[in-house]
Amino acid sequence: MTDYKLLTPGPLTTTASVKDMMKIDRCTWDDEYKRITQKIRSQLLELAHVTEDEYTTVLMQGSGTFSVESVMQTALGASDKALIITNGAYGKRIVEMAKYIGIHYDEYSVDFNLHPDIAEIRSRLENDPMITHVVMVHCETTTGILNPLEEVATVAKAFDKVLIIDAMSSFGGIEINVEELGIDYLISSANKCIQGVPGFGFVIAKLNQLKQCEGNARSISLDLYEQWKEMNHDGKWRYTSPTHVVAAFSKAIDELLDEGGVPARQARYEKNNKRIRSRFADAGIHAYISEEKQSPIIATYLFPDEFFSFTDFYEYVKTKGFVLYPGKLTEVDTFRVGNIGEIYDTEIEQLCDIIDEYMGVLAK
Ligand SMILES: *Cc1c(COP(=O)(O)O)cnc(C)c1O
Repeated sequence: MTDYKLLTPGPLTTTASVKDMMKIDRCTWDDEYKRITQKIRSQLLELAHVTEDEYTTVLMQGSGTFSVESVMQTALGASDKALIITNGAYGKRIVEMAKYIGIHYDEYSVDFNLHPDIAEIRSRLENDPMITHVVMVHCETTTGILNPLEEVATVAKAFDKVLIIDAMSSFGGIEINVEELGIDYLISSANKCIQGVPGFGFVIAKLNQLKQCEGNARSISLDLYEQWKEMNHDGKWRYTSPTHVVAAFSKAIDELLDEGGVPARQARYEKNNKRIRSRFADAGIHAYISEEKQSPIIATYLFPDEFFSFTDFYEYVKTKGFVLYPGKLTEVDTFRVGNIGEIYDTEIEQLCDIIDEYMGVLAK
């Protein structure tokens, strides 16, 4: 298989040095390995702008969804109720989890190209005192819309609710001050903006919340509380951990810091995203989400006309070394272009030249 550049929201293009870390076999109970876990846990707290007195990091095996589900399992007890704000497939997935687990919930569902209305959230919180938790996806990867985290956090905190944020596709690529926003559980994973490889997720959890959650989980393996207790002891994971992935992730964090931390990475991602958006527009391919709501992570594009074939387009772009992402909307034909990962100006210009070629822009 050729070494493609992935323009997807993860797994994404990683550095050779991150991949190299996976060439060594490591033992789960070895002290050196446990120290890698502990280092990751404390570095993630720094990236989130929180202190070890108030917050902890829990790593969880599996893809990002497993970590979201572990939070839903553990943070909500039998008498709790979640207000779940949805404007995309990942929010809807959390609603599905609530149904499976048997959590009381109220879904505030918004069109996929719109922001939730803060007044509506306030009114739901006012009218339903049973609600204890507010849950939202930060960057809805379904479309690439960036939800108004600050406003939602402010209203959730004004009502003293526990705040759960799925920041899977934004953490590490967008500055999030977890403590200032009062986020109680922030969830992300190894293979998104920190630019590691897939295999585990992580939760930045407020200690005084997590400590109250013993016995809540209806699942053994997704019990975030038990996972924390074991891991917090000395860095040993409760069950077999993805050792190769953990080592690669540790390297990926170091490389994020070398790049200049989250602000520098965010600036690169923003530049990538804006450049693609503007060059695609010039080529006649327009974004589905308006510019002010667009995340610097991934964008959804409308098919340029009724003759456009995504399969044909995808194959053409792939033969030139880039892999795009299909759309996830049912009512309109779209495709997606991710701009996170080890992707710089050169690759962005190459990609846009290929799109121009395909669209016949150069021939005109
Ligand atoms: C990637 C992603 C997830 C998790 O997806 P997995 O396929 O389980 O890793 C959850 N929420 C959002 C917003 C995501 O972008």
